[in-house]
Parts: sequence; C-alpha cells; structure tokens
Amino acid sequence: MRGTMSARLERVALSLWRKVRQANGWVSAVLVVVFVVLLLIPSFSISMKKETSGNAASELPRTQAQREAGPIHKAVTVAGGDTLFAILSQAGIASSEAEALVTSLSSAFPPTDLKAGQEIDLVFRAEEHAAGLQLIAFRIGVDPTREVEVLRSDSGGFSVRVIPQELEARPVLIHGSISSTLYESAAAAGLPLPVLMEMIRAFSFDVDFQRDLHPGDSYVVLYDRLFDRRGRQVGDGSVSYASLKLDRSALQIYRYTTSKGLSDYFNEAGQSVRKTLMRTPIQGAWISSGYGMRAHPIHGYSEFHPALDFAAPLGTPIMAAGDGVVLYAGYSSEYGNFVRLRHRNGYATLYAHMGAFARGVRSGAAVSQGQVIGYVGLTGVTTGPHLHYEVTYRGEHVNPATVVSPPGPILAGDELERFLSTKRLLDGFVREGRGERRL
Ligand SMILES: [Zn+2]
Repeated sequence: MRGTMSARLERVALSLWRKVRQANGWVSAVLVVVFVVLLLIPSFSISMKKETSGNAASELPRTQAQREAGPIHKAVTVAGGDTLFAILSQAGIASSEAEALVTSLSSAFPPTDLKAGQEIDLVFRAEEHAAGLQLIAFRIGVDPTREVEVLRSDSGGFSVRVIPQELEARPVLIHGSISSTLYESAAAAGLPLPVLMEMIRAFSFDVDFQRDLHPGDSYVVLYDRLFDRRGRQVGDGSVSYASLKLDRSALQIYRYTTSKGLSDYFNEAGQSVRKTLMRTPIQGAWISSGYGMRAHPIHGYSEFHPALDFAAPLGTPIMAAGDGVVLYAGYSSEYGNFVRLRHRNGYATLYAHMGAFARGVRSGAAVSQGQVIGYVGLTGVTTGPHLHYEVTYRGEHVNPATVVSPPGPILAGDELERFLSTKRLLDGFVREGRGERRL
C-alpha cells in the first residue's frame, strides 16, 4: 500500500496544477500559497481536532516562520446549535466582515444547512489590522464530495465557488463461506449490505440465489471503501471483482468501464454478464398480434391477450428465450402443443401452437438461450401458423416486448485488451490479498 503522505502529495500537486491552469493573475498565486499551506496543515489539524473534540474554534500553534510571514489557520468543527455567524464572531471576525461572508456563501451553501460535525477552515492574513483579523479564505465541507470555498477577491469582497472533492477509494478484500445463508455469512464477514446486494445483482443473470446456493459454497468480494480527504470513511464504493464457488460451478465477475464510460460487469472472457430474455425467440417472423386488449380472432369478444403472436411459416424453429429448465412440454386444447420454461430470478416463458417439439424437450430438461425447442404449427385454438409467446415475472404476465433491458456490450479489439489488463490487475490484487490497486 502506498503511503498516505505520498498519496496526499500527489492529490495536492494535481489540484495545484488544475488551479494554476484555470486561474490567472494573483488569484492563482494566492491559491498556490493556500494549497501549499494546506499541504502542510492536515496532520496538524487532524490531531488538533481530536483534542478539542469538535467544539469551539481553536488556533494552531504558530511557528516562528508563520508568525513572520504565513497566513493563520483556524479549524472549527461545528457543534450542535452553532450558527455560522456565531462561529465567525467567535473566531475574531468583525461582524460586518462576517455578514459579507455569510451573504456571499449563501449562494452556494445556505447557512441554515449548517450541521453539527461539519468542518470549517478559516485562513487569515498574518498581519493584524486595526479592525481585527482579516479573513482571506473560508472553506466548509458540505458533504463528502463537495466543499464550498469563499475567497477574498481583488476588490476586497468575497467570491464563492464549489470544489468537488475526490474521494479516496481503498480496496477491501473479503473471503466468505456460506454455513447457513448468504446474508448471515456476509454479515459475519463484515460485508456491507449494499455491497452484498450489488454482488447479488451482478451474479443474478447466472445464479438463482434462491436455489443454487448451498452451505459450503464460498465467495470472494473486492470492493472499495471511500474516504474523504481527511481520512474519514464516508461510504462504500462499487464491487470491483467477485467470485462465487458453487457446488458444480465457479463464476467470476470483473467491473470494467468501457472507453465510452459505461461501467458493467464482465466474465473472465470479457463478455457482459447481463443476459436477458430474447425479445423475439423466432426468426423470420412478424408480430401478428400485440400484447394487451384485443378482439379475440375466433371467439369475437374483447379479451386481454397476454402474449405476442409471431406469424411465421409452418415448421419455423422456435428458440428458448433464455437459459432455463423445461417446466412442461405437452398439450392443452387452447395452447395446443406448448412448452413452458422456468428461467432464473422469477421469469418464465411459454410457447404455444407448436407443430412439434424439438428432440429432448421434456419436463425437467435444461435448455440454453437460443436453443431450438420446437417448431411453428397449427395446434390449439389458432387461425393460422404462429408462435404465441408469453412471459411471466413471478407469476404475472409482462409484455415480452418491453420486459427485457438491452443486453450489455461484448468487448472486442482494443476494448477487450483494456479489459484484460484491468482483469490482470484485479486478479493480481485478489491473489496477493493486499497491495496497491490503481485503475
Ligand atoms: Zn396469442
């Protein structure tokens, strides 16, 4: 793990570079001074805050050099019941000055939003004026990802701006094994629930968490803990890698952000884990009847049609819309020859009016997405050769045309190369169980 000091140096250098690039005139000079001082301050201010346990303003011990030249810093942690005006007054700022600052600040941060625990940095000019200390910079951490800064401008007034805060992501590797339930195991291993949920979502295209998980199965999760610039944990980031070792299979997922900025999970071959039911489980067909209310073509009365009908020539192959298991392959007077498939995570599909089943399609048989399960026919109640295709989610009919989300990308070429180098880094990290991860 890289030292936090060098990490801080790098961050400050980066932000310095950005500031100098953006600003000009003496504003940039002031910023450079402020940031160089900030570079030296955090370790002081953090240790100091521990001592003062977050109440009133406190002043840093000033070195000889600071007494001669440098600006003066004060760090304040907002306590319950504090007002901004009171904090500023307590810090020795004249009321006219405090009013001007609060007015300027309110465009970016309403002072009434002040909350206990927020941290405020005050920077004063070294020389005291007759009127008291002169504020040159005010900074407040609004939330972990934003700071608002008020700077004294050339004209003597204040200017305000919002500074996005980069969070530091520190990778955490967790190994777990399932003795009773995944949730209990994750809690015991210290895996936060939102991280567990993200892992479950990413695997849910391949794993049915209700049926496929058993005691003895194990998993590995690599995710980020997020820290603000003061080194406090402010939340959890994404799962970067996860593996799941089941009874008969082992699965791995890698988080990868494409060059277009799309983040998704991919298997070790660079294939998106996102699998969906096929919208159209038949080729060379056209929709002859949509999903919804319609006049029944034979019975005449108005009824709800919970399916899409695809008209196609007799004998056209019908495919399984997704990986699954045959729940039923048989006959009914309405459906004729039909197949019902159970897919993962509550989805089921039904294919009616088949002329014949494909070989091996019987109750209990496993089928994979795109596999031919039967052929278009004229069985059951039908006016012409077509596939009647239904999708249910947890027992309720859904529109097959809209239930599916677009499939994730399949990586190729340079994108695949980039993915594979990301994968190597993640694999290395997981293998060593520690170390630096920079992605
Ligand atoms: Zn139909």
